Amino acid sequence: MTSRRVTQIRLAVVVLALASGAVALASGKWDVKPSAAERRALASITPGSLQAHLSFLSADPLEGRGAGSIGLDVAAEYIAAQFRRAGLKPIGDDGYFQITPRTRLTPTSDGYQCRVAVEGRVLDVPSRQFALLTAAGGNAPAIRAIGIDDARVIKVPLGGPFPEQVADAGRSAVITEFPAMPSDQAARTAFLERRREFLTRLAAFKPALVVELRRDPGRAIDYFASRQLVDPAAKGRAAAGPPVVALFGEAAAAAFDALPAGLTGATVSVRLSPPVEADAPQRNVIGLLPGSDPKLADTYVLVTAHYDGQGTRPGPDRVWNSANDNGSGTVTVIELAAALAATGKHPRRSVVFIAFHGEESGLVGARYYAERPAVPLEKTVAGVNIEMVGRTDDTDGDQRKRASLTGFDYSDVGEVFRRAGEQTGVTVFKHPKNSDSYFGSSDNQALAAQGVPAHTVCVTYAYPDYHGAADTWQKVDYENMALTVRMIGTGVLLLAQSKDEPRWDPQVKGAARYLEAWKKRHATEKR
Ligand SMILES: [Zn+2]
Repeated sequence: MTSRRVTQIRLAVVVLALASGAVALASGKWDVKPSAAERRALASITPGSLQAHLSFLSADPLEGRGAGSIGLDVAAEYIAAQFRRAGLKPIGDDGYFQITPRTRLTPTSDGYQCRVAVEGRVLDVPSRQFALLTAAGGNAPAIRAIGIDDARVIKVPLGGPFPEQVADAGRSAVITEFPAMPSDQAARTAFLERRREFLTRLAAFKPALVVELRRDPGRAIDYFASRQLVDPAAKGRAAAGPPVVALFGEAAAAAFDALPAGLTGATVSVRLSPPVEADAPQRNVIGLLPGSDPKLADTYVLVTAHYDGQGTRPGPDRVWNSANDNGSGTVTVIELAAALAATGKHPRRSVVFIAFHGEESGLVGARYYAERPAVPLEKTVAGVNIEMVGRTDDTDGDQRKRASLTGFDYSDVGEVFRRAGEQTGVTVFKHPKNSDSYFGSSDNQALAAQGVPAHTVCVTYAYPDYHGAADTWQKVDYENMALTVRMIGTGVLLLAQSKDEPRWDPQVKGAARYLEAWKKRHATEKR
């Protein structure tokens, strides 16, 4: 190929790129390398320092950093203390804290009653064997008052057939039983789908109540120990659909078995008092490392991780420590803040370090931040979110010296991290399935939806103790984690030092809606 031809192609690429709204693919982009001082600072991140932070954040007294727990508050204070130690500028609305107002609802067993009556015999279901669930029929508790008296009980097997009487179910209760949840992931997804479909069909008959018998003791829920955090503004909103009640235990199973299919002649009454309410503000922790370049200092790179975890569950192994998911990401944010603040000369762009609450409850903290950003979103050039970087025993196999990025080719950020990996001895790759499918599964999504090129870096997607009781700090590979954290730090530096900004790739279908959001956000700017 002649050099003239190459020039023509380059020109064509530039014209095409400009026409599509992307920046020119000029050579030299992301060619920056960290300075000697920056490399020294990253090298100061050791396996020992990572272990020290993580062993604290995932210790039992921190209660698995569950939403609304004291343990989560302690974790927030710890992260703020580390930001203070690094000398970050507090840019929350209360020092380092950005407060998300929440009301904690706790069910009360005062005035509780669940009574099934059939032919003069009465079964009073003990409070331990009762739960009120969300209409989707999963394990999430619904916390609200109920008053249902003597509803006629209609028994419907899973999938129907729906008896005649259901058609005028307005004042009736439907009782049904779902088989035990399969353990295989694909079968479980199909099962949950089937159950959701069945509950949707039942809801169409508008029963006063749906009662689900759960025979398997493993599926019992400690309902009166549950709690829910709600937006005080949305608190009064009525829940859609009939209440779904689960009954556990042998007595309920025996009563269920004795009932004929269809109209049973039994009645059910359920009384639940209004929940106890308390203020329970939740906190994002935010610190700023001011940029050193007069032109670029008012642009920002976000380095984020959720610090909430799985909380506690009834049973002998009460605390679900949530070390890899996502104590590991939290510790990465803490250590990178300390390292980047200690480089002597700060990166050219400002770097904002954020620990989000509420990821496990549906990206609550990140969404709150995206609505009320501490620095302007149109000046936020990239978001680097970190999840599950401690363990290497992925169900896909050993992940040492490997890391992945969600939405790998959605924007330039994938290429930036591929290069950061090259510089640090880590293979940063696009996972053939998970990179795309996990893009919407973590806090980066809340920022991407606002147009910010934001991705999640991870080492594992799935590992043996994922969302389980035994996700403990002892199982983390700290040697590899130190390598990973240095790689992530290098990627952050490439973004923060380069004069180029990452862009969503207009050629990639999955990125289209994020590019649209970016265009909308930047439409009024003079470019
Ligand atoms: Zn997570």
